[in-house]
Amino acid sequence: MPKDNLEQSFKILKKTVPLMLKHKMPAIPTNYALWYTYAANDTPELNDTLDNILTHTETLSEMKALELYRNHIADKQEVTSWQLRKTLEAMVIELSQTVKDTRSDTNVFKDSMDNRLDDLQKVEKEGWSVEEVMGLVRNLTKDAKEIRRSTLNFSSALNSAEKEIAQLRAELAKTQEYALNDALTGLYNRRFFDAELQSLQNQEVLSMILVDIDHFKHFNDDHGHLMGDKVLKGVGKKLQMSCRDGAMAFRFGGEEFTILLPGVDLKRAVHQAEVMRRGIEKLQLKDKKSGQMIEGITASFGVSQLSDCSDLSDLIGQADKQLYDAKNLGRNRVMPMF
Ligand code: GH3
Ligand code: MG
Ligand code: MG
Repeated sequence: MPKDNLEQSFKILKKTVPLMLKHKMPAIPTNYALWYTYAANDTPELNDTLDNILTHTETLSEMKALELYRNHIADKQEVTSWQLRKTLEAMVIELSQTVKDTRSDTNVFKDSMDNRLDDLQKVEKEGWSVEEVMGLVRNLTKDAKEIRRSTLNFSSALNSAEKEIAQLRAELAKTQEYALNDALTGLYNRRFFDAELQSLQNQEVLSMILVDIDHFKHFNDDHGHLMGDKVLKGVGKKLQMSCRDGAMAFRFGGEEFTILLPGVDLKRAVHQAEVMRRGIEKLQLKDKKSGQMIEGITASFGVSQLSDCSDLSDLIGQADKQLYDAKNLGRNRVMPMF
């Protein structure tokens, strides 16, 4: 990237993050692209539309943000989120290098400043009248001190720019996490499940377990939504800990989870689901408000294997059907039975 462009990009980037924070935009790549373009102020239609929306509401809905991204950015530049992330990353790396270079220049400058002060002391020894020399030295010292002070300020400005860059880098790392992980449970999210399932479609042996917490609504109703969240986290953790040999747990949505088990046939998958079921049954959580222990958390399980299915959506459909049967047979069980 040429230096001018780089400096320009840096300026825009420094406006982008505060804008996103101000409007409470989730740090996902499409939002970076959207707000970066807005801050760049070179797509008047986008800025007009966005300004118009923001005079009416404080933030943008996820749908609206996506629509704007599609209409004003994706169409034109065909940036995929991956490309964007890579570009931003490359830019951040270049920027921090530029900052480092500039700072070492500054230090060299500071050193030469100190040397000049030493030189001036020599002049004093070479026959000038004391008043003459001291007058000159006083002025030069004053100038030099000022230059030095402003250099030091510059140096600390660079330091704080470097901090901002580190922060930006951390946010970028988070961007990737948001794209893959569910915020509440930390498990992989539905989006990643879809991608992962696609990539496993040619597996010879693949099973899927669908999990739905029993009467979950009661936990919310009896102990409050936060306690409900705690139950979700507890169950998610238990499922994740039960994953072995390449099995992966995902939050499928609401109080539903799914586990993909490559290389595991139906019978073994049912057995693993049974181990998970018993693990969840033993969960005990404490309601901090009432001090009450929450027990009796159970879940129902539906299991399917790819070789019995016509395609990937059939794999999900069959697991769902088995789960439905498990619920109808009284919950807290795994279907099919062996
Ligand atoms: P069943 O045994 O038939 O599955 O009954 P259920 O109560 O678990 O099922 P239902 O679908 O009736 O209720 C699911 C509830 O899960 C409703 C919804 O409010 C709650 N829920 C979904 N997502 C969340 C969440 O992120 N946090 C909390 N606390 N509750 C959630
Ligand atoms: Mg459900
Ligand atoms: Mg449920």
